[in-house]
Amino acid sequence: MFVDAHAHLDKYGDLLDEALQQIQQHRIFTIATAMDLPSYFQLQRIAERSDLVLPTFGVHPRRAPEYADRLDELSPFIEQSPAIGEIGLDFHWVEDSSQYPAQLKVLEYFFAAAREQKKMINLHTKGAEKNILDLLEKYDIQRAIIHWYSGPLDILRAMAQFGAYFTVGVEVLYSDAIRAIAKEIPDHLLLTETDNPGGLKWLKGVVGMPTEIKKVVDSIAALRGASSVSVARTVHENFLRLITGDPWLEDVRGLLSQ
Ligand SMILES: [Zn+2]
Repeated sequence: MFVDAHAHLDKYGDLLDEALQQIQQHRIFTIATAMDLPSYFQLQRIAERSDLVLPTFGVHPRRAPEYADRLDELSPFIEQSPAIGEIGLDFHWVEDSSQYPAQLKVLEYFFAAAREQKKMINLHTKGAEKNILDLLEKYDIQRAIIHWYSGPLDILRAMAQFGAYFTVGVEVLYSDAIRAIAKEIPDHLLLTETDNPGGLKWLKGVVGMPTEIKKVVDSIAALRGASSVSVARTVHENFLRLITGDPWLEDVRGLLSQ
């Protein structure tokens, strides 16, 4: 079984059927992260079609300004979601710094809920890696997936020390900086993702399909001088360890333990 720890299945449009077929056929367990409420509702419907799809609720930092003053509305959806994400900060692609306080407000609301509900979270950290590290410590968030990390190596090491897991995604096929990061991530904290369908679209102008995860695994294997099978197994074991004891994800654990 492959693990795609961060994808946006609601963005597939006409290609959704094909994407779900690939997920089934190639056994790709997929965390379907939401960007906002409408996206979460869509993902919940999509997940009814596959037991390999886990829909999770979050508000993406780009969407944070729309939600910062109506956080109470979010709480029932946070409560029903089995894990949290996509949430985070983006101080790089979002250049308008007047939006940063809203990003922080939304993120801290989710962090407080995740701590209380003991939920795994899926994090966007672009250009705000140190801020995220500080907040992970402040809220004592034990189970975090740092998605598509591309920041400084010293912060990566500090996050790893704290116990965060990291996804390597499709950019490992094209970027030396990401390859350096992929080599730096300790074995026991390594996960894989695609950020489909937009990740590859952003990099190469083509829609990313679920089987891209295999290329990511192959690429990590080549970098680490390991076999693809052993990298896929390591990622699988890491993900199982990450969700061990999580009452929200017992079914997932059962499914992945088969
Ligand atoms: Zn994403």
